[in-house]
Amino acid sequence: MAGSVGAAPRVGVLALQGDFREHLSVLRSLGADAVPVRRPEEIADLDGLVIPGGESSVMDKLSRAFGLAEPLKSAIAAGLPVYGTCAGLIMLADTVLDAITGQQTLGGLPISVRRNAFGNQIDSFETDLAIPELGDPAVHAVFIRAPVVEAVEDGVTVLAQLDDGRIVAVESQNLLGTAFHPEVTGDTRFHQYFLQKVRDRVVLPAD
Ligand code: GLN
Repeated sequence: MAGSVGAAPRVGVLALQGDFREHLSVLRSLGADAVPVRRPEEIADLDGLVIPGGESSVMDKLSRAFGLAEPLKSAIAAGLPVYGTCAGLIMLADTVLDAITGQQTLGGLPISVRRNAFGNQIDSFETDLAIPELGDPAVHAVFIRAPVVEAVEDGVTVLAQLDDGRIVAVESQNLLGTAFHPEVTGDTRFHQYFLQKVRDRVVLPAD
């Protein structure tokens, strides 16, 4: 049951499309009660949610077609901790640049992201990122047709930037987003960081 102190936190992974299996596996390895989410009624008893990498325009269409978009927006507004990776970050952004026609997001993160920001020059790449909140060593980050965060509004914490200054990880209140994919590297620190947000909210409900 959501909010039960001491129990493993129940963390959903949006499982419409993309690499949700990898997130389920990492979350379970960290002791979370991780469950795939495909239907609106599966949202109510979650302590947290991960939105995986994949293709944001497809995830958007499927989430609206399956009636998930509105309850997810409500849950985000009510403070549900949500972590989005890559396409998941796009789903959480209030503004998307280079979206396909009609593409919508759940929103909640007051940021602008540009899809496929490394597009024609480099499709995918890996690099090490110094992230003070996660300590040493640097985080090895895998970018796959990744977005970048082009603008952040007040209240958004920038967690990671590329050497050229482009923003690739952010946090704002209950929301966390990375342009890269920690679920594929074996480094679980981002998931642990997210689970701490989940536990903090479970133990100390806001308001
Ligand atoms: N380019 C994809 C999109 O626009 C994101 C890629 C990814 O999640 N690895 O949604």
